Amino acid sequence: MESSQYLDELSKCVRCGSCKAFCPTYEEDSTESMSARGRLALLWALSSGQITSSHILNDRIFGCMLCGKCEGLCPLAVDIKEVIYHGRTLLKKKDNQRKYLRFFTKLFIKKPGLTFKLLSAIHPVLFPYLLKKGTLPFRIELPERHLKDRPQVFTVTKKRGRVAVFTGCVVNFLYPHLGEALINVLLRLGYEIVLPANEVCCGMPLRTLGLEEEAVNLAKRNIETFKRLNVEAVLSLCPSCTLALKTEYPKLIGEGIDKAKDISSFFIDKIDPSRFTPSSDSRNAIYHDPCHLKYGLGIEREPREIIEKIGINLIRTEGDRCCGFAGLFCLSFMELSRQLLNKCTEEYTKAGGEVIITSCPGCIMQLSNEIKDKPVIHLIEAIEEALFQEK
Ligand code: SF4
Ligand code: SF4
Repeated sequence: MESSQYLDELSKCVRCGSCKAFCPTYEEDSTESMSARGRLALLWALSSGQITSSHILNDRIFGCMLCGKCEGLCPLAVDIKEVIYHGRTLLKKKDNQRKYLRFFTKLFIKKPGLTFKLLSAIHPVLFPYLLKKGTLPFRIELPERHLKDRPQVFTVTKKRGRVAVFTGCVVNFLYPHLGEALINVLLRLGYEIVLPANEVCCGMPLRTLGLEEEAVNLAKRNIETFKRLNVEAVLSLCPSCTLALKTEYPKLIGEGIDKAKDISSFFIDKIDPSRFTPSSDSRNAIYHDPCHLKYGLGIEREPREIIEKIGINLIRTEGDRCCGFAGLFCLSFMELSRQLLNKCTEEYTKAGGEVIITSCPGCIMQLSNEIKDKPVIHLIEAIEEALFQEK
């Protein structure tokens, strides 16, 4: 966002407070500066020279989860997330609390394969140490190998269509089995699949840390890689990646990937219930809405319809809960993140059922470290299981 546009957006805010209604950080800490209105007021004060960068200011601006729950509530359509992103670029130089996070995120994004190898070698010692020190919020298991290290094309004999997969860092490096599940389902349904080698991180983690220029470079590289592919959709298992490619890139670099799609909006009209048999272990499920899917991409109905089409009963839950993950937020604001997670855990434990289904690998990471009475799985795993189940 250009500086002039940033100031225009900030000056549009009339301080009505509608955006405070469902803000998860404000629900946990009802001080004004923990809401969108408060954050915008602080950024306005910063831009007009009334205040300067400080520990508490950084804490408030970097303490927004960028979940997007506030955006649809603003009567003046203030682009709250973009304003927060821009505010962070102004504050990053003096934001010492997250300097190591910036360093490691940049390192990982520059050399992902090498960082994965290094972490694989040292994580048996490093992760327990960080957990003990309280700098890692939960246990992370690294898989033996990641999903993709070369371009791959999967072909089928009776071709129904051709799609590309935007793997995303979490699926590629932490949950390759989810990527494999997507490949299995697509092939069974007759889709040829392209996994281009030059995919890079979507850039969202960098933007959340105020590293806009670095994010611009990644966005341009992804556009270059995906725009020339002859495919009907670019599918991702991570709603944050889809949100970045489809709706944030046009604001960031003036061009996005229109064909980027969450798997539920792709599969919704391709699921023939007669081909699916749910596992007897997961007949009743809770569905957890990822914030970027529901509020960013407006997708709420499709995953639920798919779950019911494949023969699983959905259990109604009371709230509309954020799990508290929010990417790097859970590392930077551990206590707040845990408070939000605890509320989810309490509700989902009370609700019963045999499984929790969600559509985001980040939500899986957060929820599965706390919820032990039932597995937390990705929608693609539920689809795969029901598609490959013996009749
Ligand atoms: S994006 Fe989410 S956390 Fe941030 S101000 Fe809006 S509702 Fe609150
Ligand atoms: S809803 Fe919009 S106009 Fe009202 S306080 Fe929030 S950002 Fe400002």
